[in-house]
Parts: sequence; C-alpha cells; structure tokens
Amino acid sequence: MTARIIDGKQVAAEMRAELKAEVARLKEQGIIPGLGVVLVGDDPASKSYVTAKERACEEIGIYSDDNRLDASISQRELMALVEKMNGDPKINGILVQSPLPDGLNEPEVVLAIDPAKDVDGFHPVNVGKMVIGEKAFWPCTPHGIIQMLIHSGVTIEGADIVIVGRGNLVGKPLANLLIQKSNMGNATVTVCHTRTKNLSNHTKRADIVVAAVGRPNTITADMVKDGAVVIDVGVNRVEDATKKRGYRLVGDVDFETVKEKASLITPVPGGVGPMTITMLLYNTVESAKRAAGLDV
Ligand code: NAP
Repeated sequence: MTARIIDGKQVAAEMRAELKAEVARLKEQGIIPGLGVVLVGDDPASKSYVTAKERACEEIGIYSDDNRLDASISQRELMALVEKMNGDPKINGILVQSPLPDGLNEPEVVLAIDPAKDVDGFHPVNVGKMVIGEKAFWPCTPHGIIQMLIHSGVTIEGADIVIVGRGNLVGKPLANLLIQKSNMGNATVTVCHTRTKNLSNHTKRADIVVAAVGRPNTITADMVKDGAVVIDVGVNRVEDATKKRGYRLVGDVDFETVKEKASLITPVPGGVGPMTITMLLYNTVESAKRAAGLDV
C-alpha cells in the first residue's frame, strides 16, 4: 500500500479561509482580534517562526502588535510588557516566543500571562482545564494534529493511538486531548518514551502512530502495521551539501519506506507545521469572541 499524503498546507489553508471569513464578520461588529507577539533576542529559528506567525495574522485580518526585544532585557521589563498586554483591550492573545534567552525565567513569564489571553495554551490554568475536560485554549500543535486527522476523515474514537514522545509541548497534551470523553477524543492512547521497553511492540499494533521525538528515523517501516495512519511531528536538521543553507529538514519518521506501508502519512515539512500556526490564529479569534461576550 502506498500512503495518501496528508497535505498540512492544504488543510491549514482551508481552516485559514474559514477564519478569514469569520474575522471579516467580526469586523462588521467592530471586533478586531489582536495578537501581542514578543520575541526576545535574535535566535534565527525563533525569528522565522515569529515572522511566519505575524504574516499569517496579517493574511486573515488579525491585528498583530510586534515587540522585538534585545536579549539584554531584564525579567522585570519583560514581565511589565506582559502586564501591559494583559490590560490592553486591543490584544486578545499573547505569544511569547520560546525559548527565551538564558537568564530569563520562562515559566514565570508564562504564569504572568492572563489565562484568558494564553492562546498558546501553556498557562497551568489552561493545561489543568484541558486535563479535566473544561473549556480552555488547547495547545496549538496537539490541536492542529487532531484537526488534521478529522479533516482527513480519520476516526479517532476507539482508535488505538501510540504517541512516541512525552514532551510538554506535544506528547503529553496530545495524549490528554485524545483520551477526553468528547467527539475529538475517545481514543485508547499509549505514550512511549526513552524508557519504553520494545518500542516497536507498541507502535506495531497502533491504528495511528504519532512521532514527537526530535530524532530522524525513529519510526521505520518495520515498526508500523499495514494501513496505519502516521503523523510526523518532528522537525530535525540533517546536513545536506546539495542545499544552499547546508541542511534540510526531516521528521522523526523514515518517510520513504513508511509511506509504502501506511494508509495516510504527513510529510516534513508541509505536514503538522502549518497546522500549528493555524491553531494559534484560531485561538486568537476565539479569545476575541469571548472578550466580546459572544457565545463560543
Ligand atoms: P521534547 O520535549 O524534547 O520531547 C521529546 C520526547 O521524545 C521525550 O519524551 C523523549 O523521551 C522522547 N524520545 C527521545 N528519543 C526517543 C527514542 N529514541 N525513543 C522513544 N522516545 C524518545 O520535544 P518536543 O518539544 O515534544 O518536540 C518533539 C519534536 O517535535 C521536535 O523535533 C520538535 O522540533 C517538533 N515540534 C514540531 C512542532 C511543529 O509545529 N511541527 C511543534 C512542536 C514540536 P524522554 O521523556 O524519556 O526523554
């Protein structure tokens, strides 16, 4: 079997078109969703993520308040900026790009963000609400994966899902969302990590395998069953002298061989990545609607 490729860019484009129409409707009611963006330092990867997020905001009509700060900023100044955005009615979502430079206390910054504006879904209040199944901002990458599965016609309810990786950004929240008693959950989930004994025993029986590891070729063809759905979250740089920049991006899955066995598979790049930004836009629009007292 050769897998159908799940085109993350296509699914993201469909969702962004819906969001753009919604933003236009909100504007007719005088509501303009706003995202406050904070980038500290000059890490090239962070810069490109922030630029992509701001461009995506612009494309669908979300106002973005761009704050690019020198790495020498103090914790106090950064906290003051977050407080200012907490109180700014034009800002519905606050995004502080991670990782912060050494010397800044990231957990403290996340805690300072008003949970009602925590569109990344990282604040412990939102994490706690998500775990107990209350309305909350869901973290963007796990939510994007679920939306991508739904848009691709994959049945989540009752599926045997194996997630490889238990990180706070992807593995852990995704597992929590997928076990919720809800129409986006109801799956049976196993979470694997470096201490898992015989990883392939788990992955081989899964209907859906999600790799969120950060290591190329962690999932090979012999580790998945025929017809499995394979979602590759990993983003890894491997040296490639044929590329101008000297490297190319690959996921955690050995794409070329696994695609011959899976029924559906996501590529890297062009799979999960575009969905992550889309769900940030989604959360910002939701936040604007909640702030305006619209029933969401
Ligand atoms: P993380 O917090 O470092 O977690 C990685 C997890 O992988 C850990 O739980 C680790 O196990 C597990 N692991 C590492 N090697 C393993 C192995 N050989 N076998 C089984 N498990 C193994 O990373 P993350 O933040 O979740 O990110 C994971 C990947 O997703 C990275 O490549 C990241 O760049 C990518 N990512 C992509 C997006 C996107 O939008 N496309 C968003 C977020 C992250 P232990 O816990 O035992 O150490």
